[in-house]
Amino acid sequence: MAIPIPSRQLFIDGEWREPTLKKRIPIINPSTEEIIGTIPAATAEDVELAVDAARKALARNKGRDWASASGAVRAKYLRAIAAKITDRKSELAKLEAIDCGKPLDEAAWDIDDVAGCFDYYADLAEGLDAKQKAPVSLPMESFKSYVLKEPIGVVGLITPWNYPLLMATWKVAPALAAGCAAILKPSEVASVTCLELAEMCREVGLPRGVLNILTGFGHEAGAPLASHPHVDKIAFTGSTITGSKIMTAAAQLVKPVSLELGGKSPIIVFDDVDLDKAAEWTAFGCFWTNGQICSATSRLIVHESIAAEFLDRLVKWIKNIKVSDPLEEGCRLGPVVSGSQYEKVLKFIATAKSEGATIVCGGDRPEHLKKGFFIQPAVITDVTTSMQIWREEVFGPVLCVKTFSSEDEAIELANDTHYGLGGAVISNDLERCDRVSKALQAGIVWINCSQPCFTQAPWGGNKRSGFGRELGEWGLNNYLSVKQVTQYV
Ligand code: NAD
Repeated sequence: MAIPIPSRQLFIDGEWREPTLKKRIPIINPSTEEIIGTIPAATAEDVELAVDAARKALARNKGRDWASASGAVRAKYLRAIAAKITDRKSELAKLEAIDCGKPLDEAAWDIDDVAGCFDYYADLAEGLDAKQKAPVSLPMESFKSYVLKEPIGVVGLITPWNYPLLMATWKVAPALAAGCAAILKPSEVASVTCLELAEMCREVGLPRGVLNILTGFGHEAGAPLASHPHVDKIAFTGSTITGSKIMTAAAQLVKPVSLELGGKSPIIVFDDVDLDKAAEWTAFGCFWTNGQICSATSRLIVHESIAAEFLDRLVKWIKNIKVSDPLEEGCRLGPVVSGSQYEKVLKFIATAKSEGATIVCGGDRPEHLKKGFFIQPAVITDVTTSMQIWREEVFGPVLCVKTFSSEDEAIELANDTHYGLGGAVISNDLERCDRVSKALQAGIVWINCSQPCFTQAPWGGNKRSGFGRELGEWGLNNYLSVKQVTQYV
C-alpha cells in the first residue's frame, strides 16, 4: 500500500517557508529501509525567524494578542485542531506507521489520544479565565492580595521520535491553552505528522506566529532554540544526555526548563499472582511500542518461588507476538525506528551475552523478515546488577530479569537505578502494593498493570528521568507564570 508523504517546508509565522540553507533530511521507512520522502532541516537562521514570529504573535494588536485573548478564544482553536486531527485519523496513523514503524492499530490509538489531548486542554483553557484573580488570605486587613496566572511567553518545545505527534501534543496543547507562543522542534528521526499538525493549524486559522514548527537536527535547530535569549522556557522530552545539555544551555540565561527524560523502570511480580495475567502485563509493559517507551518496564523482578514457571509462560506469550510490517493485519510489533537504533539494541544484547547473561528468547532478526529493522523481543536472565543491560536504557524490545526472596529485596532492586520514571507492582495483596508504591523512587507507579497513561493524570520522573510534570493541570502549569498583586487599602 503506497502512502504519499506530503512534501512540506518549515512552518514559520503561519506560512510554509523553505529552510534558509535549503537542506532536507531523508525519511526512511524502517520496515523497508527505503527513502520515502524528505523533511526540511532548520538551522539557527530559521530559529531566529521563528522566535521573531512567536514574539510578534504575543505583541501584535495590543490587548488582542494571543496571550491576552481569553482562554475561551484559545479553546476554540484547540477544539478546531482536535476536530481536524480526528477527521484525518486514519491517514495520520498510516503516516506514523511508515515513519516510525508503529503497528497501525497502535498508531491509531495514539492519534485518538492526540485529539483527546487538544480537547482536554481546550477545557482547561476555558477554566483558566475563572481562576484569575484568586484571592490570597492575608493576616493584615490593610492589604488585599490576589493571584494572576499569566503565560510564560515564548516557549521552545523539543520532542523525541517514539510518539511523534503525541509527545509534541503533550507540550503544544497546554502551551497554547496557557497563552504562550511556541516553537516546536520535533525529532529529525520522525517528524512527518508534526508537519501535518502545522497544516491543520493553518487550516483552522490559528493566528500567525502562535505555533511555529521547525524540523531538523538537534545540534542545528534544537541547540540554538535552547540557548536563544528570547525564548522564555524550554520544555524537553528525550534522552538524559540531551536533557543535561539543554539544562546547561538554559542555565546560562537562568531560563526555566522542564525535562522528561529516559528510564529503566522495574516491574515487580510477587508470588501470589495469576501467572498468565502477570505475564501478559509484563510483556505489554516491556514490548509495547517495541520497548521504545521511556517508561517501559524493562527490568523484571520476580519472586524466586514462581520465577521458572512464570518465565515459561512469559516466553510462550512473547513467542506469539506477531512481528511484521506495521501495516499488516494483526501486527503487534513493527521494526525499531532506525538503522542506528537497530545496531544499538543488538549491541546491548551482545554485550549482555559477553558479560555472562543468558538470552532466553529473541534478540535477533525474525527469519521471515529479510529487510527492515526488525528484532524479535528478547528476554535475558542471569543478569547481575553491575551489567550494562541492568543499568542502561536500551529503548528497544529487551527485558532483563532478576529474582528476589523478600519485599525489601524487591524494592532495593527496583530502586537500584539512576532513573526514576515508572514502576509496576503485581500482587493480589493490595496493602503490599500500597507499601511498595510508596517505596518506589519513581514519578509513576502502576498496580496490577503497566503503561496505561491518561491525559488527566500527571506524567514525569524523578532522579535522572527529569523533573516537572506533564499532562493534567500540571501540564498547563508548566506554561503559566504566577503573579502576586497586592494592594494597600
Ligand atoms: P534525543 O535526546 O536524542 O532527542 C530528543 C530531541 O532532542 C530531538 O528532537 C533531537 O533533535 C533534540 N536534540 C538532540 N540534541 C540536541 C541538543 N544538543 N540541543 C537541543 N536539542 C537536541 O532522544 P530521542 O532518541 O529522540 O528519544 C528517545 C529518548 O527520549 C529516550 O531516552 C526516552 O526515554 C526519552 N523519552 C522520554 C519520555 C518521558 O516522558 N520521560 C517520553 C518519550 C521519550
